[in-house]
Amino acid sequence: MDTVYLDNNATTRVAPEVRAVMEPFFGDLYGNPSSMHTFGGKIRKYVDKARAQVAGLLGADPGEIVFTSCGSESNNAAIRGTVDAIGMRKRHIITSRVEHPAVLEPCRYLEKEGYRATELPVDREGLFDLGLLKRAITDDTAMVSIMWANNETGVLFPIREIAEIVKAKGVVFHCDAVQAAGKIPLDMREVPVDLLSISGHKLHAPKGIGALYIRKGTKLVPFLKGGHQEGGKRAGTENVPYIAGLGRACELAGENLVEENTRVKELRDQLEEGLLLSCHGVRRNGSAEHRLPNTSNLSFDFVEGEAILLLLDRLGICASSGSACTSGSLEPSHVMRAMGVPFTAAHGSIRFSLSRYNTREEIDYVLEHMPRVITRLRKISPYCAEGSPARASRG
Ligand code: PLP
Repeated sequence: MDTVYLDNNATTRVAPEVRAVMEPFFGDLYGNPSSMHTFGGKIRKYVDKARAQVAGLLGADPGEIVFTSCGSESNNAAIRGTVDAIGMRKRHIITSRVEHPAVLEPCRYLEKEGYRATELPVDREGLFDLGLLKRAITDDTAMVSIMWANNETGVLFPIREIAEIVKAKGVVFHCDAVQAAGKIPLDMREVPVDLLSISGHKLHAPKGIGALYIRKGTKLVPFLKGGHQEGGKRAGTENVPYIAGLGRACELAGENLVEENTRVKELRDQLEEGLLLSCHGVRRNGSAEHRLPNTSNLSFDFVEGEAILLLLDRLGICASSGSACTSGSLEPSHVMRAMGVPFTAAHGSIRFSLSRYNTREEIDYVLEHMPRVITRLRKISPYCAEGSPARASRG
């Protein structure tokens, strides 16, 4: 078997249908959508079409979609743009301890400018406490930024309830939906979110394109200044091929959202249940119930995540330890720490994240090899009683 790609929360394969719609923009359709001539106007229609496709996935109005370069830009634009629009009248921001760095870092940066950031904790299952949120909001709160789905564990937050609480206090609410979009239904008509971030490369569009949903009437100072593009909300000549690709990817994701993700969930459950049964000393990190259909985060006692990844890699299996952004560092991820996962378990944590392109054969392949990988690593583990007696007895 070639590559078994189970790292789809890091990035996804570009769908062939998406590549097909992008192609012509590298050839004859090279015009600038802001140009006054007919050639430019023709290109503008493709941008409009993509905007409607993205809006379709989110239950939004096309006029509420602004294209960006990635999820990180969408998050930065939402946070910086909101506090700049409100000014220093309100100086408090609320977020959670398990957000992606593209939310945590902009909030922490604002603290250097005189803002105060509250990072709400989560429980041992990674779940959100609505009571803590209610108590954290004050008259000084400018905005709340909470993610829909966690990238490491897949744990889902109750965004509708969060949005209702925040809006009842008249506070701006931003949601990082980068991992949720395309995996679960999102409907802006039902959920009173003001701002919502998505990223193309997490849903089978290419890297380098994202979008920010801005509910009509929400005040935002543009993050990128210096051009009238995107209704004056984001300067810079539009990345037309990628915008067209994102539009098609959102359309595809929306077409079979429930069916595709039911199938993905079946494969994920088959993988997870198989590993829990065959490997012993395995624990799931994060709620089993309130979770994305594609993600499984497991800790294997007495072995290091990095060592597992290395042996899986030799078998052509791609997974991740912690988030892609934190792997490479030996510190347990901030998400594992926030959930109170014991240090050794956090070190042995592996994230498998599936997509619609995974097959049953691939899952069988992982289930066939994984127990041997774990047994082999435990044999040489200094922490494991089953391991080398000399090393184990050193305590
Ligand atoms: N937010 C979440 C929850 C993510 O998982 C990621 C990427 O991993 C991002 C934001 C950043 O998105 P991008 O890679 O498009 O900048």
